[in-house]
Amino acid sequence: MSYRIPFDRVNWITSSFLIGTALIAIVGAPIYLYHFGINWFQFSMFFFYLCATMMSITVGYHRLFSHLSFKAKWPVKLFTLIFGACAFENSCLDWSSDHRRHHKHVDHDGDPYDISKGFFWAHMGWLLFKLNPEPPMDNVNDLRKDKLVMWQYKYVHWIGLVVGLILPAILGYAYNSFMGLVPWQGALGGFLIAGVTRIVIAQHCTFFINSLCHTIGRRPYSTKHSARDSAIMAFLTFGEGYHNYHHEFQHDYRNGVKPWQWDPSKWTIWTLSKLGLVEGLRRVPDSKILLAEMHEARRRAVLQLEELKNAGPGVAQRATDALHEITEKLTANYHELEKAVADRVQLSKEVLNQWQSETRALVRQLGRIPRGLTA
Ligand SMILES: [Zn+2]
Ligand SMILES: [Zn+2]
Repeated sequence: MSYRIPFDRVNWITSSFLIGTALIAIVGAPIYLYHFGINWFQFSMFFFYLCATMMSITVGYHRLFSHLSFKAKWPVKLFTLIFGACAFENSCLDWSSDHRRHHKHVDHDGDPYDISKGFFWAHMGWLLFKLNPEPPMDNVNDLRKDKLVMWQYKYVHWIGLVVGLILPAILGYAYNSFMGLVPWQGALGGFLIAGVTRIVIAQHCTFFINSLCHTIGRRPYSTKHSARDSAIMAFLTFGEGYHNYHHEFQHDYRNGVKPWQWDPSKWTIWTLSKLGLVEGLRRVPDSKILLAEMHEARRRAVLQLEELKNAGPGVAQRATDALHEITEKLTANYHELEKAVADRVQLSKEVLNQWQSETRALVRQLGRIPRGLTA
């Protein structure tokens, strides 16, 4: 089998940057660490830059600008636009345009990082090769009215270079000079660790959302798309790993909607709202979320029952009966909640919690019935 790389479509600048920075991070950073080690200042700078960059992508580029899931005052916009530029993931305007297209055409041709074209394509292949034809940026006219967004659009690479690479080097130089250490070692450390290595880590964590979050995990809210919920991915992506929920309810400022789910981006937005820096946080009502969960649980139960029936005679009667009972309960609960939501009945937290626990228990029972079980 031979595979020809379409050289005529290679995006040389982006490809060189992605491969070059990865090589520096994999080879250069370990050599530096071997020779000079790392002090608390270099580590703190790396940690701050990683959090600031990732949060600017998740809170700013993604939830604020792409999905308008809350409104922010200018300091939050400015911070996320500056540190978003330091991720070297293009301008907020370009990023949002691609991302809105991803949601609109998910898993299909119009989706720039369409997972059906393969894991590598969704992860970074779509950046290494030019899209043909280049999609028009006709879905971000609202963002074009924002002066800060347009300022960042114009100077994004300069901002990234100065704040994301030169500044950590200057800070490393200044710290070492102040402490009586070798200044150029501090500058090189700042550039390699808080600069390049941090860029590579932040970029691949973002890319994971488009690749792994469409590959591993559960789909408790919908199977209409490939997006999945995964706690491990949530940990690696500052809360974006609850991607099945996010694709189902994209305007909710939360991705990890349950209180126990790891979503530092949600906690940051909530904290900023208490400080008066953001407002208008959009939330999907609990009843609607539960309705989606019930719908999905019921769909699985019906499918499993069909499978068992199609297995023909000899199928264990007890399993069929149990599955029948679960399906009926899920269907009855689903229709009852559906009616309450349609009639706009205000359901108390207790009632919703009760339904939630019952749905979860039924889903657990469902998982215990082996598929295609025969007597
Ligand atoms: Zn997605
Ligand atoms: Zn999104």
